[in-house]
Amino acid sequence: MRAALCLAILTSVLRSQSLEDQISKIAKDLQSRLVECRRDIHMHPELSNNEVRTGKLVTEKLRALGLEEVKPNIAGNGVTALIKGGKPGPVVAWRADMDALPIDESNFPAPYKSTVKGVKHACGHDAHTTIALGIAETLNQVKDQLPGTVKFVFQPAEEGVPNVPEYGARLMIKEGVLENPKPQAIFAFHVASSVPVGKIAYTDNAASSASSTVNITIKGKRAHGAYPYQGIDAVAIASQCVLALQTIHSRRIDTKEPSVLTLGTIHGGDRRNVIAESIQITGTLRTFSETITDQYEKQIRQTLKGCTSGMGGSFDFNLKRGNIPMLNSPELNKAAIPVIEKVLGPNTTLAQGPGLFGEDFSAYQRVVPGSMFFLGTANVAKGITASVHTAEFDIDEDALSIGVNTGSKILLDYLIRNSK
Ligand SMILES: [Zn+2]
Ligand SMILES: [Zn+2]
Repeated sequence: MRAALCLAILTSVLRSQSLEDQISKIAKDLQSRLVECRRDIHMHPELSNNEVRTGKLVTEKLRALGLEEVKPNIAGNGVTALIKGGKPGPVVAWRADMDALPIDESNFPAPYKSTVKGVKHACGHDAHTTIALGIAETLNQVKDQLPGTVKFVFQPAEEGVPNVPEYGARLMIKEGVLENPKPQAIFAFHVASSVPVGKIAYTDNAASSASSTVNITIKGKRAHGAYPYQGIDAVAIASQCVLALQTIHSRRIDTKEPSVLTLGTIHGGDRRNVIAESIQITGTLRTFSETITDQYEKQIRQTLKGCTSGMGGSFDFNLKRGNIPMLNSPELNKAAIPVIEKVLGPNTTLAQGPGLFGEDFSAYQRVVPGSMFFLGTANVAKGITASVHTAEFDIDEDALSIGVNTGSKILLDYLIRNSK
């Protein structure tokens, strides 16, 4: 009996090893095609909500691979598709974003530079899309051995669209991408221009900040500049308000909570010798928790109320909430670290602190647990060090098959661990 059990375990170990080896081989063999695909997308970048060509390319590729339920045109140009494994198990999702940025790379020296003036894949979403397609191709080849289903989510408009209320991840969710079937977890990569190729960084819990837009109007009463007592001076009130608002962070928010309130513009008044009736102030609030955002909202209102009413004026205040903080699952990270290190070697994962950037992957994590890993794409020896969102940004393309190999195995590991 014991011998039979040992044999069964040994057989299953051998089978799982061989599946991992198969994935490594497929990912390695894909490298030249991954480079080709990434360069094609890089040369044809499309701004947020204009990813028509990219969405079509993704749809055609997924259909050609034979994925199931390929659904285009979700939330604009988004696409989803499924790989249904040959064995029963959970559903897990992989997300890639597809949009580019309004950054010109006319002077980019590489032969694969953008053919669209003023538009560049400066955030690595060309690599994210390529890697997700590569994972789809890899796992589809071994689907008979997969215990469960993998859902691919190709998302438009991650970088945001001005003056459009809903787009990107939130609209994808509203249009049902996390239903039928509902994934139990979701993963993604983001390229990391500060992490060397061959390494992957991760952050437990808050990885990116929430960002909200602050709009304030200070209201006074117009009067002749020589007779301020006949009016209510909105400039004087606004000055007091700006200084008082800066004490929220230093005096009234838990000092262990990183946050920043920046008032970036202040405009108003009519003439040098007229008491101003109205002043507009705009700013940005960055926090790592919605509770702290709530506290700021309350305390900004309270401060404005005190400052304006104390001087006879009034105010309008509006806080428009944007991305919520990305909260990466420590449990999913903990499980993925040994998987990554098995592929890339010991000490190839790096714990990384939170950053004050925005990332709408956070919206999926509101619905299902998820983790975004930061795939190293820098290479000092090759001169690839420029930061994302710059005209010089590029990636070491060796990261493509590394991404496909590790991403496929993170998904496989999740399916195996959760199918028992
Ligand atoms: Zn970006
Ligand atoms: Zn990005």
